[in-house]
Amino acid sequence: MHAQHRTTLTGQHTTTVLAREDLTPSAYILHLDRQGLDFIPGHCVVLGCVGKREQREYSIFSPTTAPDLAVLIKEVEQGRVSHQLRQCKPGEPVLIEGPVGFFTLDDVDIQRDRVLFVASGTGIAPFHCMVGSRPGMDYRILHGVRTSAEAYGRATFDPARHVLCTSREEGGTFSGRVTDYLRGHPVAPETRCFLCGNVRMIDEVYDILANQGVPADNIRAEVFF
Ligand SMILES: Cc1cc2nc3c(=O)[nH]c(=O)nc-3n(C[C@H](O)[C@H](O)[C@H](O)COP(=O)(O)OP(=O)(O)OC[C@H]3O[C@@H](n4cnc5c(N)ncnc54)[C@H](O)[C@@H]3O)c2cc1C
Repeated sequence: MHAQHRTTLTGQHTTTVLAREDLTPSAYILHLDRQGLDFIPGHCVVLGCVGKREQREYSIFSPTTAPDLAVLIKEVEQGRVSHQLRQCKPGEPVLIEGPVGFFTLDDVDIQRDRVLFVASGTGIAPFHCMVGSRPGMDYRILHGVRTSAEAYGRATFDPARHVLCTSREEGGTFSGRVTDYLRGHPVAPETRCFLCGNVRMIDEVYDILANQGVPADNIRAEVFF
C-alpha cells in the first residue's frame, strides 16, 4: 500500500541521497528519498547540488510503485550538474523541484493502443518508469546505444518486446542504429510512438515514422540535448 502522496513539491526543496549505483564509468543511478512525491510516468524532476548555481532536469527512472525516487544520469564530459550530482554522498542533501513535464503516458494510450518507445542512451529513463509502472502494457521498445554495457534497466523489459540496437559492437539484439532497425521493421500507422533522447535521433526517427504513415498526432518526443 502507498504512503500518502503529494501531487507536487511546490518550489524548491531539499531531499536526501540514499545511494548511488554506478552502471558504467559515466552512467549512474541516483536513489533519492522520495518524500511521498506523487508523479505520472514520464515526469521529470529538477535537481541540483546545494550551494551550486545550476540545476538540470532528469526524467524519473523508477516506477511509481517504488519507495524511493531514482534518476539515471550520464556524466557528460565538461558537464557541470551531471558531474556535481555524482559527487553527492549518501546522507547528503540535494535540491529538488517538480515533478514537471508533459511527456507522460496517459491511461488511454495503454488501454487502446499498441505503444512504441524509441530511446537513445539515457532517453530510456522515462520508458523504464512507464513500463515498470504499468504492467501488462502492449509495448515494443527500441533502445539505441553504442555498446551493450549501456543497456540501462534492461532487466525491467520483457526480452520479447525489447530491441537493443548497438551501433559500435555486435552485442545487442540488432547491430546498427534504431533508425536502421525502423527502416527494416515498419510501424503500423495507429501505433502510439514516444521518442526520447538526443535531438538528431528524434528528428530522424520522426521522419521515418512519418514516411511509414504514422500521423503526427501519434508521435510524441522529449529532447534531452
Ligand atoms: C526534459 C529533460 C529530461 C532529461 N532527463 C535526463 C535524464 O534522465 N538523464 C540524463 O542523463 N540527462 C537528462 N537530461 C539532460 C540533463 O538535463 C543535462 O542536460 C545533462 O545532465 C548535462 O548537464 P551538465 O550540467 O552536466 O552539462 P552541461 O554543462 O549542461 O552541458 C554540457 C554539454 O553536454 C551536452 N549533453 C547534455 N546531455 C548529454 C548526454 N546525455 N550525452 C551527451 N551530451 C550531453 C549538452 O548539449 C552540452 O553541450 C534531460 C534533459 C531534459 C531537457
